[in-house]
Formats: sequence, structure tokens, C-alpha cells
Amino acid sequence: MRVIEDKCVGCGLCAQDCPLGLIEIVDKKARINEGCVNCMTCFKVCPKEALEKEEEIKPGVVKCNNCPIMCEIPPDKVGACQRFVNKNGKLIRNIPLHLFEDVKDVVGEDFAPSIKEPLITGIGAGTTYPDFKPAPYIVEAKVDGVDVVTVVTEAPLSYSGIKVKIDTEKNIGEEGADVYFEKRKVGHITTEEYGSKMLSLGGANLLTGKDGMKVARVICDIANRKEVKLKIAKGSELIIKVGDPPIIDGEIMGKMRVGCGSASMGLFGPFFKEAADEVIVIDSHITGLFSEHPAGTALLVPYSGVILKARKSTLGRYFGDHGEGWGGTSITDPIAIVKGVDKTIARPGMTLLITETTGERAAFYKLGKDYKFHQEEMPPNAAKAVEVIASTCEKSRVSAIYVGGAGGSARAGVVRYPLKLSKAVHEKKAKLTVGGAPTFVLPGGGITFMVNVEQVKVNAFSWVPTPATVAPIEYTMKKEDYIEMGGHAEAIKPFSLIKKR
Ligand code: SF4
Ligand code: SF4
Repeated sequence: MRVIEDKCVGCGLCAQDCPLGLIEIVDKKARINEGCVNCMTCFKVCPKEALEKEEEIKPGVVKCNNCPIMCEIPPDKVGACQRFVNKNGKLIRNIPLHLFEDVKDVVGEDFAPSIKEPLITGIGAGTTYPDFKPAPYIVEAKVDGVDVVTVVTEAPLSYSGIKVKIDTEKNIGEEGADVYFEKRKVGHITTEEYGSKMLSLGGANLLTGKDGMKVARVICDIANRKEVKLKIAKGSELIIKVGDPPIIDGEIMGKMRVGCGSASMGLFGPFFKEAADEVIVIDSHITGLFSEHPAGTALLVPYSGVILKARKSTLGRYFGDHGEGWGGTSITDPIAIVKGVDKTIARPGMTLLITETTGERAAFYKLGKDYKFHQEEMPPNAAKAVEVIASTCEKSRVSAIYVGGAGGSARAGVVRYPLKLSKAVHEKKAKLTVGGAPTFVLPGGGITFMVNVEQVKVNAFSWVPTPATVAPIEYTMKKEDYIEMGGHAEAIKPFSLIKKR
């Protein structure tokens, strides 16, 4: 990269963002030190357009094609991600390939086979109160020759909530926007995940607030796979039921996108090559322009001359926006994504396919003598490419993860030394399950767990008006470990005495 000194005001934004820390401000001007790889980060952040790419590739420089940035790495230097080094004209990953053996100690031990499944579940167990009383059921049995104990309770948890995953590329509202249930605030939209919008509902602060009852109810209804109607502040109305497609503003969501517009280029490149001279996949994350994208280049597709009305990220990849239009962007007429054509490259008669990342909507155009695109009927090869995208997409659905904090008083009914139980859970000496389903226990202090509600029997969750949600939880461990952590030995009953109702 080169600094255009007349334009540079020395603001330092490029210096802050250069991934290799190569830029410094000297006498109120940016100076790029040795090792620049032309990653264009500084170009993207400069508000004064004071940086430009040096087109000439210096001797010994190797171009990396491991990602869309395409760093040009000088000898003995690393790329922008600091993963690849140019050693004698060859790009080498600067840490070796690791076998599982190499990481085994970091991954840690798994649970012993004998304690992987609880002897009984907490579903229907009831609760003992106050918490220091032994849990309702403490059961022992021999498993694979090992004495095992399972302690169960239906634990009221004020630290609880639910994360809801809604597969859709439709814009439902701003990240951080409040979510309402029967006009009461029950949560907010959290960060979007791959092809899905995420809601975070409940949590201790909302549960203990003035609308806590509604919050507890909505968590349980979703966890118990009931249909729930939610409203996003300044956003959509949602009807959600775990396992079913979401209904957003009255429309049943059909497919979740297969990937962003750029990923589609890599996934369906051979079909796009046959579909038209140019293919645009409109997407709120990254819109792809096939003939400029590395996927098109690798398939020897010449650049079409189409210029997009969008902010460029890297070759053939353009940032999208959010709205009610195609691919979750604000574009309602697909051809509006095209700013124009380079008349020295584009030729009248060239064809253009524009599609969404789900293939649900697509349009086909031909460039007229007026250098404007005119819509035409979709020919079979273009229709096939769209059909391949659509058939690769998964069905949209709603999923949910219940999150609970059991590291408080709920431990006292299990053992007399609660800290020992927390440690045992983290050290995989005591296995925590919910209704028999495996949990993921968040690292760090306490016992905060997550469970996929679809692995828990329907209607196993309930709530009490304290308000708190109630989850069936089980701790399973070796009897000797249970006794060591101050387990309620006097309350242990043989499994054979447990009567199935
Ligand atoms: S192109 Fe990348 S490596 Fe070079 S100066 Fe700019 S930000 Fe740094
Ligand atoms: S993988 Fe790393 S070195 Fe290669 S182009 Fe991308 S950022 Fe640069």
C-alpha cells in the first residue's frame, strides 16, 4: 500500500486497524513500514481515501489464496492473519498440524462410562424446601461394577432463561431490540448467527422485575414446545414453536439460507457458470458477484463489467444491509443492486441471473443496446442453478436452549459442601443432566448449564410465582465421590425400591 500524502490528515485510524501493526503516524502523516501485504484494511478504514494499492508485485512476494483477502506476502513475512509465512517463496502454515494426541490434555477427560446416564430423572421428582433438606430422591445402584449415586430434584431457578434460534434471513428487528410477550418485556434480540436470528429471553433481572411472572411463563412455554406469540420493538410479530417453522409477520418461513452470497459462489460455482454470464446472490451479510469472485476466477469466468451498488469487502464480495427486501436486504427490486456496467467490458446481449441465498426468489435479465438490463424469462440452466440452491437449503425451524444457574442454594439438597459439588461438575466427576438430557456447563465459577429443550420430555419444565422457572435436574457420580463431598448418605435409597408410576 502507498500513502497519498496530500490527502492524509494523520488521523491514525489506519494505524489502529492495521492487523500487522505496520502503520505509524510521523509528522501528522501515515507511514507504512516494511512487511505490508496489501490486505487493504487501511484502505477500507481511511476516511480520506489517502491510501492506494501498489499494483506492481515486488520480487519474492507470494500471493496467498487461503481466504478472500489474497495477501501479497513479502519474503520471511506473514499475512494479515499471521498464520502463513513466506519461506523461500513457499507459503507455510506457521504452526504444525496437530493430532488429537497433541491436544488431549487441553480437551480434558470425559465422564467415566458408569456415570454417563442418570439412574432416574428429575421429571416428577418434586422439590424439598428449604434447600438444606436432602433432595427428594437420592438413589444408588451398581453400574458396570461401580457404585453410582444419582441425586434428583425439580429445582426452582431464578437464574434462568432461554435462547431461541429462529432460522430466517428475514429482518425481524435491530440487534438489542426488546422482545415483548403480551405487552411485557421478556428479553431482547441478541447477535445473529449463521442463517438465524437469536433471541435471549428471561434471565434473573427480568425474572425478578415487575413482569417476572410473564417472563417465567414465556420461558416455560417455549421450553415445553408450546406456540408463543412475541413482538419485537419496532420490528416483527413472531409466532414460534420449537421444531416448527417460524411465522414472521404472518408469513411462514420456508427455507433457511444455505450460506451468505459469497459462500454460495463457492458452493454453486459450476452451476452459476452455466446459468448466465453474471450471477449476483443478494444477501444482507455478503452479496456475491460471481465473475469478480475468486470462485468465478478459478472457473475461468471473465469479469462481466457489472458494477454493484454496495460497499466492497474483497473481490466479488460486497457488504449488504438489513431490510424487508431480497435476501433480507433493503433491495425490493433486485436489479437495483446493479449500479451500472463498465461499457468497455460489458456487451449487449450478456445475461445476468440474480437470486437470493435461499433460491426462493430469482430473476433473469439480458443487457440491452442501451446498456440497461431488461428482465427475461428464466432459461433452463439458470432455473437449474436456482433450483440447486433451493434444494440445498434446510427447512427453517425454531430451536431453543434453556439456560439455568444451579450453583446456588439448589446444591444444598445434594451435598453438605456445595463448593465440592461445583468442582466435581467442572472436573467431570459429577454429571449434570436435565430430564436425562446432556448439558453443557459453562466454564468458570458456579454451575450454569445449557440444555437443548428438544432432548427434554415435553412439559418437564414448570414455573413458580417467586418467580422462577423449575427444571428437572440430576447429578450422577460415583458413590465414593458423593460421600467425600458431604452427600446425604442417610437418604440414599437403592434403585430397586424406586417404583415406576
Ligand atoms: S494493507 Fe494491510 S498490512 Fe498493509 S498497511 Fe494496510 S492494513 Fe497494514
Ligand atoms: S489466509 Fe491470512 S495470509 Fe492468507 S490471504 Fe487470508 S489473511 Fe492473508
